[in-house]
Amino acid sequence: HIPVICVDGPTASGKGTLASEVARRLGYHYLDSGALYRITALAATRAGLALDLAHEHGIARMAETLPVRFVDGRVLLGGDDVTDAIRTEEAGMNASRVSALPAVRTALVALQQSFRRLPGLVADGRDMGTVIFPDAALKVYLTASAAQRAERRHKQLNLKGIPTTITALRADLEARDARDSQRTVAPLKPAQDALLLDNSEQSVDESVAQVLRWWDE
Ligand code: C5P
Repeated sequence: HIPVICVDGPTASGKGTLASEVARRLGYHYLDSGALYRITALAATRAGLALDLAHEHGIARMAETLPVRFVDGRVLLGGDDVTDAIRTEEAGMNASRVSALPAVRTALVALQQSFRRLPGLVADGRDMGTVIFPDAALKVYLTASAAQRAERRHKQLNLKGIPTTITALRADLEARDARDSQRTVAPLKPAQDALLLDNSEQSVDESVAQVLRWWDE
């Protein structure tokens, strides 16, 4: 039985930072499930498909056979390094669009579950605890205030030299959260057995320590 820790929560709550650090500390594998939706959206856009219901099955077919590899912190789509291309705000919004298509979600289930390998997995996303790994030993639902999340995202993008405003970022992430929460399949919500962690006033180290304490209990 291979242990899984799920970290779900809204956009820019710090799931990726927390989950990858917990994985590193435990020597576990790490799944960034959002990256799979981002890559699917990018592949579909490049193939000229509009990201809507009319193309649901075409996009799902692409998702099913996605030639994706994670190598040394880089994300490869076929022979193409798409690490930076999938990290833009637009790529996030497009990921949210394709993720609302039921057939696309179904197409990505097996790929996500294939990351469950010894000695264990830390998976981050929106439905890790509710849909993909319902039997996970620990489920964390990570939140932070919208103001905090917008501010953190702003700092991140600033460091990369990408100009944005906190107001625009906040509007963007609230729109994405609204779509993620209101969709009919796998809406964003805590699993019934999830432990809630609000990191608005916490450092990364403090949240990591909290999750490792829960894991030890
Ligand atoms: O986590 P990240 O911001 O990279 O995810 C991008 C989008 O992909 C989210 O806004 C959400 O719509 C979708 N997603 C999802 N289920 C997941 C992970 C991401 O629907 N498990």
